Amino acid sequence: MQKKIILFGGTFDPVHYGHLEAAEAARRHLNAEQVIFIPARRSPHKSDPPEASEHDRLHMLRLALADWNDFQVSDCEYHRPAPSFTVDTVQEFRNRLPSASLIWLVGADAVKDLPRWHRIDRLMALCTLAVMYRAGYPKPDFSPCKPYFTAEQIRRLQDHIVPVPLINISATEIRRRLAQGQDVSELLPASVLEYIRPRGLYGCTR
Ligand code: ATP
Repeated sequence: MQKKIILFGGTFDPVHYGHLEAAEAARRHLNAEQVIFIPARRSPHKSDPPEASEHDRLHMLRLALADWNDFQVSDCEYHRPAPSFTVDTVQEFRNRLPSASLIWLVGADAVKDLPRWHRIDRLMALCTLAVMYRAGYPKPDFSPCKPYFTAEQIRRLQDHIVPVPLINISATEIRRRLAQGQDVSELLPASVLEYIRPRGLYGCTR
């Protein structure tokens, strides 16, 4: 049987339960063996650079994933110049795992940007794109993408919509709360918070 692997990229600034719970729900829904979290040096889709360093974001991911058997982390994007283009990352995994079924997972907030992703046709030839529900964003609807994709590409996108539970957490909100000294303990693993606090990451003072 072909090994099914989910690749889950992001800035993870910091990683939180929204990422973890949604990725696990997607893994089950798609019947995949593994989810590989891939922190970006810098996202081509975001105007601001990440706030925490590459080292800190990778370390927080390692701490967060320690309790999850089917999750791994890869620092492969750290070995290429920023910004990290998904197509290059997936090509690396395709070379390493020629017979695996590769799925690139994103949240519903990505739908509007998909037509502008670097070499999107090549990316969609190398892997399957799966778009999961995300709290605060409309359910994935690819109608506005129709002028940019073939009917076959739209069909594949629609066939890989992942109805994960809506978890209303974002890294932006966590950073905002930390800077204001508010509680975030329900939003991310304790090990990650214990890493953030003594280092004063995100303007946290206690
Ligand atoms: P920020 O608020 O800094 O933009 P983010 O959590 O949205 O942070 P990333 O860390 O880059 O951004 O997210 C990685 C991936 O996880 C993206 O595809 C994003 O859509 C998805 N994601 C983030 N939070 C959730 C959530 N609560 N539910 C489902 N998907 C999520």
